[in-house]
Amino acid sequence: MLFPRFIVFCAAGFLVGQAAYAQDPKPAVPAEKPSLAPVKPKASPTPAEPPITFNSVHVDGPFIALTFDDGPNATLTPKLLDLLAARHLKATFFVVGQNAADHPEILKRAVREGHEIANHSWSHPNLAKMSDEAVRRELQKTDDAITAAIGKRPTLLRPPYGSITARQKKWIHDEFGYRIIIWDVDPLDWKRPGPSVVTARILKETKAGSIVLSHDIHPPTIEAMPATFDQLMKKGFKSVTVTELLAMATPVPPRPTPSPSAPRALPVASPTPSTSPPIPAPTP
Ligand SMILES: [Zn+2]
Repeated sequence: MLFPRFIVFCAAGFLVGQAAYAQDPKPAVPAEKPSLAPVKPKASPTPAEPPITFNSVHVDGPFIALTFDDGPNATLTPKLLDLLAARHLKATFFVVGQNAADHPEILKRAVREGHEIANHSWSHPNLAKMSDEAVRRELQKTDDAITAAIGKRPTLLRPPYGSITARQKKWIHDEFGYRIIIWDVDPLDWKRPGPSVVTARILKETKAGSIVLSHDIHPPTIEAMPATFDQLMKKGFKSVTVTELLAMATPVPPRPTPSPSAPRALPVASPTPSTSPPIPAPTP
């Protein structure tokens, strides 16, 4: 009796279909699938992987890092070293390799006086737009020039213009061991806005853990430094090298949590890395 069974089946199917239609009428425009699950947060870096890039550091004391790029300059850098020495301040010089090769004696003096020398490429190109092989040559030549001058290899890189891809950071870190140092205070001194403006901008933006960018190839920047240094010191800031600042990194205070069993702090020092720093405005 196939035929009656078929009738019953069709009738049942029709009724179910009608019922479903009555309960859940199809809207004229299909609605988006409701998202019951919360929006998936962006993947955060694996805690096991130490951070590679730094814009600033979380520290407990009033420590900052003053950094000077693009030198050494035959006259301005020694002048700056005098200003730093008179105040017992430490700085980090991100040198352009070809300038470093021209003035190894300035690098030697800087290291003797407690400053740090770091890599800022050989000829100041935009690394993000270059082949791996070309980037490797830029970094290696500078690394060699610094090593020849001061007898030890640099451990930090600041890419010109702060421009570098995430992929480059990774392989450069793996190959050269460099940490990538950007900045959080930029007075745009390369535009030469006048010494008092440079001083005012640095004082306004600098906080504990800041990495301050300036350039020791512009006379007005050097002119701005006595007042900048004196007022930073008056505010209680203490300038150390970038490597020293990174070593002082303390855990970022945990956000308030309702669970009393949640760990209150990470067991090891955890600097505040910037996994995707904004590309700062180009600096010469
Ligand atoms: Zn530069």
